[in-house]
Amino acid sequence: MDCIFCKIASGEIPSGKVYENEYVVAFNDINPQAPVHIIVIPKTHALTCADDVTYANSVYVAKIFEAIPEIAKAAGLKNGYRVITNCGDDACQTVRHLHFHILGGKQLPDRMS
Ligand code: AMP
Ligand code: ZN
Repeated sequence: MDCIFCKIASGEIPSGKVYENEYVVAFNDINPQAPVHIIVIPKTHALTCADDVTYANSVYVAKIFEAIPEIAKAAGLKNGYRVITNCGDDACQTVRHLHFHILGGKQLPDRMS
């Protein structure tokens, strides 16, 4: 599987991993767009983006959102943060493995697009 996030999840390529459990890995974005910019992924490649979420696999999304408060707390995001997921070309998704961006560490712009 030629997927950079699968390779990060397996440890095949190095990353600034900040969190890991049975279902989820989180690591620092290589090109941060805020003082804190963390990517959270399911370990499975089964979902390429939000479009692929179903009743049968939504547990992976739940596991990510269960982890997010812990990841945010460990990153020191006491004053809030933003969670974003890009899906498809119009959203400029570059890595086709479901992932969520956690952005924070400063006052973020009030506009999202
Ligand atoms: P998206 O545009 O939503 O697909 O986001 C993909 C994100 O992955 C971008 O913010 C990239 O900077 C980030 N990224 C790509 N390769 C790596 C890597 N090897 N380690 C950490 N982050 C990465
Ligand atoms: Zn993958």
